[in-house]
Amino acid sequence: MDLKSRDRKFIWHPFTQEAIAPLPIPIVKGKGAFLYDEEGKEFLDLISSWWVNLHGHAHPKIRRAIYKQSKKLEQVIFAGFTHEPAIKLCEKLSSFFPNGEKFFFSDNGSTAVEVALKIAYQFWQNKGECKRTRFLSLEGGYHGDTFGAMAVGKSGFHDSFKELCFPANFIPTPFTWIGDEEVENKEKKALKFLDEYLEKGGNTTVCFIAEPLLQGAGGMRLYRASFLKEVITRLRKYNIITIFDEVLTGFGRTGTNFAFEQVGIVPDIICLSKGLTGGFLPLAITGIAESIYKAFLDNDFKKALAHGHSYTANPLGCTAALSSLDLLLKPATQNNIKTIEKINIENLALLQKKCPKVTITRCIGTIAAFNFPVTDKLKAQFLERGLLLRPLGNNIYLLPPYCIDKGDLQRAYDLIRNTL
Ligand SMILES: *Cc1c(COP(=O)(O)O)cnc(C)c1O
Repeated sequence: MDLKSRDRKFIWHPFTQEAIAPLPIPIVKGKGAFLYDEEGKEFLDLISSWWVNLHGHAHPKIRRAIYKQSKKLEQVIFAGFTHEPAIKLCEKLSSFFPNGEKFFFSDNGSTAVEVALKIAYQFWQNKGECKRTRFLSLEGGYHGDTFGAMAVGKSGFHDSFKELCFPANFIPTPFTWIGDEEVENKEKKALKFLDEYLEKGGNTTVCFIAEPLLQGAGGMRLYRASFLKEVITRLRKYNIITIFDEVLTGFGRTGTNFAFEQVGIVPDIICLSKGLTGGFLPLAITGIAESIYKAFLDNDFKKALAHGHSYTANPLGCTAALSSLDLLLKPATQNNIKTIEKINIENLALLQKKCPKVTITRCIGTIAAFNFPVTDKLKAQFLERGLLLRPLGNNIYLLPPYCIDKGDLQRAYDLIRNTL
């Protein structure tokens, strides 16, 4: 039996309607921005394998670091014990966050969000402000697939579970794109909505969670940094905790190391995963401002955070993260990020000019997106041409690893244009 049939016999794939989806493509090898199937057919990974890969597949530096660490220590319980890879990683990360952050480890983006929400909620309990029970976020947001993350998300993926989730409140998101002339009006309306909400619920709100600048799974949609800054300025008058979910936007995706740098606001809590290990191993970090952490210190265990995962701060994952962070900060990588953005902007303009059905073009850092009536046939044609794209509904987007060759990215755009 070939790999496809063996797969179908036992495996249930994520976010897949198995009754109608084509069989999955077995990949046997990855190198740089390319993946290869059994016959050696090449796929250009234009979505960084679900947004996790930063520096290319099987990167030798990260690979070697993991191997070296695996010979020393693969895992140790993280309660009552610690290890250097975790310590070094947090020392490095702390230089990006001026709030005197404490870092709490978990395994994936959803758990990073669960941890953030639980900390925010328990913070007020520990402070004796038990009337704070409301959660606030943005319409269209996606924060993961676990229950807390689903409750504060509104991407349309989780409607079946709505009744089981705790209630949350949503501010309209003033999406914008290249050439959008209505943005100010949309922002004004959203802020008015927020003001009305705060008047009633500001003093009973636990926290506000948002994907800064870019909503990913909701359709790669952008909104302005100045709007987000305005929102948070208002929230802070009510001492509402700000959580930035930078699971996707972190580590250079939006052109700066973290998206909050462009907002000019340091969040009280930040969620990181996806690119954290450069796409090698599942790992997540929730960064928490010292002032919040302090509310958990007491002689009573009841005030401690009762949360932890079996693989908390896995040493191999931490090592991969350290290595990936080194690569990210190299001038060559930072230049590539700028080059990708330049190619994106040029090609979005060309797409809009040549393909009348292309609308709502938008771009931030290494991410470009546009709308087009997507069909199954179109998706199959992309794959035939060796382009790994995975449109979200009618939103087609490119989110390549930073190592992608300029020529390869330009060729991908030419192929996409021809296919459309
Ligand atoms: C992907 C994603 C998550 C969830 O991460 P998982 O690792 O898939 O659980 C949460 N927030 C954002 C913004 C994401 O893009």
